[in-house]
Amino acid sequence: MIKPIKICNNPECRDEIIEYKSSKIAYCNDYCRNRAGYLRRLIENEEFDVFSKGLQKNYKLLKTHSDAGIFDEDLWKLERFGFNTRFLPEPKFFIINGKETQCYQIKEIVFHLDKKTNKIIIHK
Ligand SMILES: [Zn+2]
Repeated sequence: MIKPIKICNNPECRDEIIEYKSSKIAYCNDYCRNRAGYLRRLIENEEFDVFSKGLQKNYKLLKTHSDAGIFDEDLWKLERFGFNTRFLPEPKFFIINGKETQCYQIKEIVFHLDKKTNKIIIHK
């Protein structure tokens, strides 16, 4: 009987699983299953941390601007200080000057990216 070759899904193992009954088998044993789960959570947490830090940095930059009375700034200038549009919260819609506008809110700061001018506009 021909059986497909199965490789353990634990990234630290990747051994061939020699004897198996179910074709759904993904790990050599419980150790490999647990280890893979642990590693996956570690990676997810790391991404979460990177995102949190990025969001915090964006917030600080916007807060510094808004505290200084600057409510619009070129995106590229903000990016030079480390602003990163990869780290934005879920967009929310606000009515701005009578127009529904896709905004972002980090804590008390509401802002949007104006596509025409490529400026970040902070709303008071
Ligand atoms: Zn394994």
